[in-house]
Parts: sequence; C-alpha cells; structure tokens
Amino acid sequence: MKRFFYTVFCVSLLFSCKPSQNATASKTSETASAASNNQSTCTYWQQHVDYKMDIDVDVKTYQYKGKQQLVYTNNSPDVLNKVFYHLYLNAFQPGSEMDVRSRTIPDPDKRVGDRISKLKPNEIGYIKVNSLKQNGSKLSYETVGTVLEVALAKPIQPGESVTFDMDFDAQLPIQIRRSGRNNKEGVALSMTQWYPKLAEYDYEGWHADPYIGREFYGVWGDFDVTLHIDKNYVVGGTGYLQNPNEVGYGYETGTVKRPNSDKLTWHFKAPNVHDFTWAADPDYRHDTMQVPNGPLLHFLYKSTMPKDKLENWKKLQPKAVELMQFYSENIGKYPYDQYSIIQGGDGGMEYAMCTLILGEGEFDGLFGVTAHEMAHSWFQFLLATNELTNYWMDEGFTQYFGELAGSKIINTSFKKETKQTYDVYAYYANSGTEQPLTTQADRFNYNRSSSIAAYYKGYVFLNQLAYVIGQENQEKTIKEYFKAWAFKHPNGNDFIRIAEKVSDLELDWYLNDFTRTTNTIDYGVKTVEGKTITLERIGLMPMPIDLSVTYTDGSTEDFYIPLQMMRGEKPTTATTIKDWAWSYPTYTFEASKTVKSVTIDPNEMMADVDRKNNKK
Ligand SMILES: [Zn+2]
Repeated sequence: MKRFFYTVFCVSLLFSCKPSQNATASKTSETASAASNNQSTCTYWQQHVDYKMDIDVDVKTYQYKGKQQLVYTNNSPDVLNKVFYHLYLNAFQPGSEMDVRSRTIPDPDKRVGDRISKLKPNEIGYIKVNSLKQNGSKLSYETVGTVLEVALAKPIQPGESVTFDMDFDAQLPIQIRRSGRNNKEGVALSMTQWYPKLAEYDYEGWHADPYIGREFYGVWGDFDVTLHIDKNYVVGGTGYLQNPNEVGYGYETGTVKRPNSDKLTWHFKAPNVHDFTWAADPDYRHDTMQVPNGPLLHFLYKSTMPKDKLENWKKLQPKAVELMQFYSENIGKYPYDQYSIIQGGDGGMEYAMCTLILGEGEFDGLFGVTAHEMAHSWFQFLLATNELTNYWMDEGFTQYFGELAGSKIINTSFKKETKQTYDVYAYYANSGTEQPLTTQADRFNYNRSSSIAAYYKGYVFLNQLAYVIGQENQEKTIKEYFKAWAFKHPNGNDFIRIAEKVSDLELDWYLNDFTRTTNTIDYGVKTVEGKTITLERIGLMPMPIDLSVTYTDGSTEDFYIPLQMMRGEKPTTATTIKDWAWSYPTYTFEASKTVKSVTIDPNEMMADVDRKNNKK
C-alpha cells in the first residue's frame, strides 16, 4: 500500500537442485529439519494451489455465491493433518479483531477508526462456508474470526495433491479498508481478499494469521475465475480475460450485442500468481496502452469524474508505460502480459497483475501512487515475501524504487526524498518507541511505528546498502535477487546472501543489527590534532566509514575505513586505510598533511542518528 503520512551466482545451482515432487517426497527427516532452519536455494520448496471458482454476484445486495474447487499440492517434506483458509471479509464485523484493534491502538488509521463497530448486518462483510469436501469426503471445519480451521479426512502426504470443493456465500462490506462497496469515489465493487484463500505453509510452518488490518501472504498457483454479474458492469483485475468479445471488454460501448439475460459472464485465467483481485463498476471507462516489448496496460476509471480528473488519467497512461519500462530494466522483466490500474479501494494497494488506487487526487499524487503500487508487482507480488514478518522488504524496497522511478520520469528529487526518509527514521530511532523491523506487522505499538519501520527504515536499508557495498553492487544485487527469487517466498536472509555473493563481503551483521535489533549508527569525529585524526563509535551498530578530509593547504582527500567483520572492501576511489574492528570505541590514523577539517560520510548515505558530531 501507499504510505500515508508525513509529507548469478546461485541461479545455476537453483535449477540444478530445484525440488521435484518425487524428490521432495523422498526427502529424509534430516533434510526436512535442515529445511526448516533456513531456506538455501537447494532445500527450498513451496506449496502449490490451482483455484477454479464460479461466482454469481447480486449487485443490488452486494452478496455473492461461490463454488470453489482447489487442487492443493503439498510440496513440503511434512505430512499435513489440517489446513487453514483465510476468510478476510469477516474482519468487517463489529467486535472483530480488526475492529477492536482499531479502537484500542493509540493512533488509529482514520479510514477505519470505529467505523466497523457501527456496521449494520446488511453492511458487514462475511464469507460463510456452506460445505467443504476433500476428494469427495465431507470435512468438519470451524470458522474462528477471519480463519477457517479445517481437520482433514485423510492426511496429505509429501508430494500429494488433493482436491477441496467448497460452497460459500459472501457479502461485500461497506468500504472500510481495501475491499468494499461504494468507496468514497463511488466505485461499486472493490473485490480484494474476497474469496476463501488457503493459508500458506512454508519452512516456518502454517501462516494462518488473523486479518487485523495489515498485510498478506499467499500460496503460488493458477487461478481460473468465472464471474456472473449484471450486464451493465465493467470488470477489471488479475489475469487474462478469456472471452473479451462476449463481454465487449476493450470495445466501444454499443459495438457488442449484449445478451438478453440480465447478467454477463466474465472468464479470467491467471497463471502463477498468489492472489486474485477484481473490481467492477457500471461507469468504468476502459483504456489500454501497450508497453513496447512488455505488457498491455489497462486503465479502468469512472467516466463520471470531473473533466480535469479524467485528463489526469489520460496523462497518466504514457507515464505508466515508462514506469513499467523503468522497473523491468532496473529490477527484472515484468513476466505477465497485462497489468491493470484500477480506480477503487481506499488509497492504493498492490494486487496480482493490478492495483486498486483512488483516482480523484492531483496528477502528482495519481502518478506517485501508481509508481508505488506498480513497484509492488516486483516487491511482494513476484518476490513474494511474507508481508507480516517482512513488511519492510516489500514496503521499503517499493518506496525506494517508486521514488527512484519518479525522479527519472517526472523529475522529482530522489536526493530530497532520501534525506527526508533518513530524517524520519532518525527521529523514530531517537524517540524511544522504535521496534525492530522484523516485528510482526500487526504487533507494532503504534500505526506510526509500523509505517516508519516498513516504509522509511526499509528504504534506508536498501539505500544504505549502496554505501556498504558500493552503488554498482547494490544495483546488481537487486537484479540477482529477482533472478533467484521471483515466483518464490524470499526472506531477509535470502536477500542478504545475494548481496554477499555479489559483493564478496560478509553482511550478516548488516541484516542482523539493522532489521532484528534497534541498535543505532552513531559515529563521531573525536579529535583532530595536526595530522592526527581520531574517530569514535558511539552507537552499537557497526559500519564501514567514508571520510572526507580538507587539509590546511586547501586540498582534499577521501578515505575509506573498512569494517573488519566484512572481511573485505567495497570498490572505491578513496584512499583505503587500515580496518576498524567493531569493539574498539576509537580509531586513530595519521593523514599525510596538516588537517583543517574532517567529515564522516559526506554524502549522507549512512543512517547516522546524530550527525552533529560527524564534522570537526
Ligand atoms: Zn506499498
């Protein structure tokens, strides 16, 4: 989502040891326990889903009936005795965990506040499961808030596929957060997290997390979705429309003969995604624009908006093409043939092959939210981190690339944005309320804390990595990370291992201190006497040091002080001097001439929480 406040290496290895179902099934328990402690590419596995859904929508009551057939393949080395589904829409009921958390957190999200507590029965959201079968056998299950707990009739063996058949009824709530009806810009149906969605099982076990308001995590697979909906509604979303002629999608109104029945059938297929989202409105205008050597972009927005807002949507289209090109060049090629930018929801939120964004803001805002949400196609949709445990990896990296793209495409200042981002992080680090970046996303003490951690400190992590290993290595790391981990579930360690291989430096300390602790970086210039410079480490977090020295004769010299625990140096044109081992509180060296002044980190790439002592 969009932040909303304050202004290879192992690729060949990977293919050679990619687990097949049979190989996984025959793994010994020894291998299984190794896999549960780490996820090296050779022991990596992931579950697989194939959804087939048939959905009948009543646009007057905002209710829909669904039939879902789910083929689930257990690629894990473990025998599964139970499964869990997310029933996200149940969060929009008075007394739900989302409702109560929103009313008890000190700084509630204004969009939610106490609104859930006031929903009437015909306004709440729900998913009611009417029946569930495993390979034809009836299953017992229990709905517990936003999670369906299912006891299996027969355990699922490693390598085995089973078929679940489910019938369900659902009601789309009044728009509160992300999904919902008639959002504040009047979009009829924002259908996000709208179906019973199987929870992910990975090297950490089940992730049947309740929906309290934050983030998502899903199983990779193929979706085949058929929607029956009022013939006057236009639909956009995840996947490829299979019957465009039948629904008149992409054609001028009136050129297609509408059926005599009240409803049209829209059939979508989406291969290799971990979610399926759609939106529908009778007033959607639909434009397309082709990205050269890339996907077809779809734009769905309300034709009833004021004229200047409609013009913004036209102006956005060639810029969206540039965004798609920028990300494809700098991260990795967008692998699908379509991407849809859809007016809907309550801000901006990323989904598979599409985003739902508010559409009536000023152009800069519309561009900014599009830049951000589109970057999420890489950071969370393709590089599918668990957003609950690694919120920073998708929001921080997305924010970084969104700003970088904006600076190239609409000439915003990346430098200015980066400085502000560092300042907000430093403020947070000094506030006494900071929690580690790896805090579960729902478990932050304030909404503000979670946002600063994920969006700001996550951004700093990636930008500062360029300071630690060099700009070129940072850029290469991103591309190698994409090559190795697209269509999978990477974590922080997977990312830093790529950075280590690219740079040939040891970096576990960087991941550990910056994401798993609240240790801060604070280095200072202690004394300057003649040619002798003494620096001090005040904060607990280690860092290598870039230093700029001005001599009394007016000349300058840049120095690089490697951090000993990195076991190497980044590429640099500066004069490299002796290592600094972390535990030593001070570091003294002799310059070649009499020193006038010294500045630590002159480019301000290091997230030093007190810059006042960086200069003497
Ligand atoms: Zn985001």
